[in-house]
Amino acid sequence: MRVIATDAQNPLSGLGQWDDAVRERYVANRRKEEFRQHTDEAPSVVREFYRLNHTSQTVDFVRAKKREYLPLQKRRMSVWEAMNYLNTLVDDSDPDTDLSQIQHLMQTAEAARRDGRPRWFIVSGLVHDLGKILCLYGEPQWAVVGDTFPVGCAWSDKVVYAKFFAANPDSNIPEYQTRNGVYTEGCGLNSVDLSWGHDEYIYRVCKPFLPEEGLYMLRYHSFYPCHQEGAYQHLMDARDREMFYWVREFNQYDLYSKGESKPDVEALRPYYENLIAEFFPPQLSW
Ligand code: FE
Ligand code: FE
Repeated sequence: MRVIATDAQNPLSGLGQWDDAVRERYVANRRKEEFRQHTDEAPSVVREFYRLNHTSQTVDFVRAKKREYLPLQKRRMSVWEAMNYLNTLVDDSDPDTDLSQIQHLMQTAEAARRDGRPRWFIVSGLVHDLGKILCLYGEPQWAVVGDTFPVGCAWSDKVVYAKFFAANPDSNIPEYQTRNGVYTEGCGLNSVDLSWGHDEYIYRVCKPFLPEEGLYMLRYHSFYPCHQEGAYQHLMDARDREMFYWVREFNQYDLYSKGESKPDVEALRPYYENLIAEFFPPQLSW
């Protein structure tokens, strides 16, 4: 078991604390007028996490991380091995109520399965957070989780804690501070660099194996400013707008209440091993 110790770069007691903050924002506290009030009252460690994220995610940082990880030359692992590897990461916040990483993945997949979603949707739910193994490679929390946003263009004030962008070095680069920045109107999100984290990484790992709808769900599930707040529409193309239907459909399962019963991993394993084998080869490049 690896508990990532709290330190200056890792203020959260675990990655789950960011998920909890998002869940609070969109599920427990849905009404817009309560939103701002809530964020002001968020635990100081959550605010510190967003401060680090918003000040450190620069164009140069994102491009460097893409060069480092997207060749997928870190490991060869099966999906199940990756799930077990991710599960070695434990949040130290509240072990009695918190789900393990595998339990979160299975709870997401099971909720989709109960709703009669297609098998590609269920398997996408199962793998959606495997990119969090970035944390086990030594990446700080702010480079693994957090609401994602485009870099290289003006930040939307719809990004949670947008005030922290003032200290991002990219704020001094005029080219990055226009509405479209280094992009062109309607260019499509595939041409846009989002802040680096677990979404892009798992998207790249799964790209050869899942249908486009599932890949959109993986790649943009943390892009809350867009799929929940409606920001950055001007960078989307027609395909993005069509596919974001699935990103929004998926979000309800990702935010599925952790108050529900914990999935029985061993009992569910045969079903999921079978599902994994339907979509993925025995070994994947990570
Ligand atoms: Fe996630
Ligand atoms: Fe998730």
